[in-house]
Amino acid sequence: MAHTAPIDLRSDTVTRPTAAMRQAMASADVGDDVLDGDPTTRQLEALVADRLGKERALFFPSGTMANQAAIWVHTRPGTELLCDADAHIYRWEIAAVAGLCGVQCHPVHGQGALFNVHDWRGPLRAPSIHAPEPSLVCLENTHNGAGGAVTSLLDMQAMQQLAAEHGVPVHLDGARLWNAATALQLPISALAACADSVMVSFSKGLGAPVGACLAGSAEFITKAHRARKRFGGGMRQSGILAAGARFALQHHYDRLAEDHASATYLAQVVDGAGGARVVMPDTNIVMVDLPMQRAAQVVARALTLGVRISEWHPGRVRAVTHLDAPAGVVATAATFLRQALEEVLVA
Ligand SMILES: *Cc1c(COP(=O)(O)O)cnc(C)c1O
Repeated sequence: MAHTAPIDLRSDTVTRPTAAMRQAMASADVGDDVLDGDPTTRQLEALVADRLGKERALFFPSGTMANQAAIWVHTRPGTELLCDADAHIYRWEIAAVAGLCGVQCHPVHGQGALFNVHDWRGPLRAPSIHAPEPSLVCLENTHNGAGGAVTSLLDMQAMQQLAAEHGVPVHLDGARLWNAATALQLPISALAACADSVMVSFSKGLGAPVGACLAGSAEFITKAHRARKRFGGGMRQSGILAAGARFALQHHYDRLAEDHASATYLAQVVDGAGGARVVMPDTNIVMVDLPMQRAAQVVARALTLGVRISEWHPGRVRAVTHLDAPAGVVATAATFLRQALEEVLVA
């Protein structure tokens, strides 16, 4: 293995555009999207709005910017949004909620399942002179920090109902909503219907180089367009990127189940190695809990054997399956990872 590139399972963001995708990007019809519109971007937005069952969609350079634009539109400074304690919006967006939107996060600690409505009844408080006013409920499906865990349609609907009882809108961080819909064997629109606004990413499992969309009502997207401009997210000949995203949606959505099967395979091979415990994956993210705080050593040893994984925290490593790692390659990676765990944890 020493002279070939390692198998990269750090994230599903590491995929590179295929030759066919590059061809679609190179030949895209483009215009100035900040000035008077880009035709390929319009087509992508229409396609995504249709798939998600929303009135309109808007193309963004990143999922983070799309999430923050949604939060900026839904909330007012001095209010709070409720999210789970491991939410991407809370843990991995460098406090943009506070810095850009003037809003505080109220992290909800679930007892077991992520979006069990019973855990949210207490935190979503009734209006009071003493309590911050809730302005938004944020859901995440699949859930990155929970190892690509899928929340069921019933739980999503219960959350939507609870938020509605409090007159609070719902935003869905659906960076990997494609994976959730695949795992649940549902049209993605059924999951999107549980939220007022939805962010979906093209640069995770779908394998496009750049981009995300925010979808919602026409009125909401008009406001989100202003937010995108304010955040510096206007893109000129964005059709080059939108063409990659559209290609990803048309050609790579139907194959996500392969990534899920590979992740399950990897989890089965690795579970128990050196006393490590794997959280059996719902989708394409495999979290491996170590019996001791040796994540950095496991990552380093795995790399010398030929597979890149990431340290999630000192007692946990993460491997993610994706388009650029077909089943046979993941099988090889699984044996390397098993060996690395056995060596580092038993030594
Ligand atoms: C990756 C990710 C984001 C952010 O998307 P970027 O395009 O990397 O900014 C948001 N939420 C979740 C759950 C993610 O996994």
